[in-house]
Amino acid sequence: MQVEAFVGELEWLPLGRWRGALVAGCLDSLHARQALGECSWRGGSPFLDAGVNPDSALARVTCYLPGPDRPCFACGLDDKDYEALGAVHPCAGPVPVPATTGSFALGGLAAAWLALESERLLRGRWDPSLAGREVLLETRNGRLLVSRRRRNPACRFDHQSWTITPFAGLTLGNSLADALRLAGDLVGSHRPFPERLNGKDPGGARLVGKARLMPRSAEVTLRLPGQRLAKALHCPACGAMVERFQVVGRGGPRSCPRCGAGALEAVGFKVVDCVDRHLPAALLRQPLRRVGFRAGDVLAVESGRCTRYLQIPETP
Ligand SMILES: [Zn+2]
Ligand SMILES: [Zn+2]
Repeated sequence: MQVEAFVGELEWLPLGRWRGALVAGCLDSLHARQALGECSWRGGSPFLDAGVNPDSALARVTCYLPGPDRPCFACGLDDKDYEALGAVHPCAGPVPVPATTGSFALGGLAAAWLALESERLLRGRWDPSLAGREVLLETRNGRLLVSRRRRNPACRFDHQSWTITPFAGLTLGNSLADALRLAGDLVGSHRPFPERLNGKDPGGARLVGKARLMPRSAEVTLRLPGQRLAKALHCPACGAMVERFQVVGRGGPRSCPRCGAGALEAVGFKVVDCVDRHLPAALLRQPLRRVGFRAGDVLAVESGRCTRYLQIPETP
């Protein structure tokens, strides 16, 4: 067994980490559970969620299998839950986690059942009937209750698993400008033009079947879903605004270059969700590694109404 420790928010891990995996969660906050449920669903991976309720002496394991008509973790959330989740601001620091007041015995019981359910899934028994199955271990009366979660038609999650393909030709040594150009080439070279063009050659288009494919680069924007990018970082000690382009939360704490005392932090008005070629040239020239991109990150490439999901390959 190989154990890899990661300290930080779950959303900061590259989405590619959740693909082709069995995701087993034993988390202690609604925010983290929702994040894990969403990451695993996007990557098309089954998610086993274990939990305990010390007041009622209950342990529970729920199985989520991605699919448009299947229940997800968010299907069980109501307006009050979303109110409790609230909005997460980049300057607010880590999400506070209240004490669970759980018991070791209940936690151990949930963990043992989670291991058994994991074994079942790893043996390849991904029976569709497991979707939404919830096993409740009611310890006061020694009962095991099996129920099923239902797809909530009012669920706020879109239930989409993404088709993720490798971002061919991109390495972390490339700049943001390179990434935009490569993404534009990839999207542009697959853009269909099915309409007849009255015999005119549309700038080098060639006829493939009944569709014309444009070999030209397309105008694209790039997003790192679930992450945000800071264009500058703020020092709360001296008030300096340091020009630095960075994926929020990645790269660890940085001390202020002006006063040396404060730890730089992202502030809302300097944070963006996506980048395009209109960024200042100095930012576009920065290598992806320096900005905080990681191998396994999945980039959403948007061109018009079309979105493609491309994973940054591991560097050989
Ligand atoms: Zn749902
Ligand atoms: Zn400072």
